[in-house]
Amino acid sequence: MWKWTGAALLLSVALFVQACAPKAAETDCGFVQNSYGERVSWKNEGIIDLYIHDSFPNEYIPALQSAALTWERSAGRRLFNIITEKVGGEIAPHKDGKNVIYFMNTWEANRSTEQARTSIYWNGDQIAEADIRVNALNFGFYWKDSGGFNPNVNIEALLLHELGHVLGLKHKDSGGSVMATYLPSGANRIQLASTDVSDLKCEY
Ligand SMILES: [Zn+2]
Repeated sequence: MWKWTGAALLLSVALFVQACAPKAAETDCGFVQNSYGERVSWKNEGIIDLYIHDSFPNEYIPALQSAALTWERSAGRRLFNIITEKVGGEIAPHKDGKNVIYFMNTWEANRSTEQARTSIYWNGDQIAEADIRVNALNFGFYWKDSGGFNPNVNIEALLLHELGHVLGLKHKDSGGSVMATYLPSGANRIQLASTDVSDLKCEY
């Protein structure tokens, strides 16, 4: 089981060597790749159940749904099942077999410029779990702000990016991609760029 976060590739210790023979290395198409050079994604294994933690504000659930729909329109199929009945418990993202989005009230001091972080876990070339943390300690958010510059972060634009990581996409700082490393304050980047759509279609 390997883990990757939006900012860095963390090579956790593999307890088993996968017995299956790897396919030939693939071009990345914007996706995270495993140690065999295969793209990791959910493949065609149905729909991704995404749970919402109690910490996530209700007012932003429609922004999450809208961001999910934006990816789905380009994929031409349903990708996410957003479960609006919230899950409780500690705000402690971890590998628990459930994909959960959290609004964090704590954040590492040395990573305070990070707006959010998505961790994905995979076996072989198949993603098994993804968790999203939103940095609500260091950032303020807005949705559908109508007038003028907003010094906060457009939550839909941020979630569109993080859902891209959930799908297996890594950062792409070209082509106006929504997977650009940084989302400027006040940027209403809520539509996919053509490069995002072509990357998506490599796996979905
Ligand atoms: Zn990112």
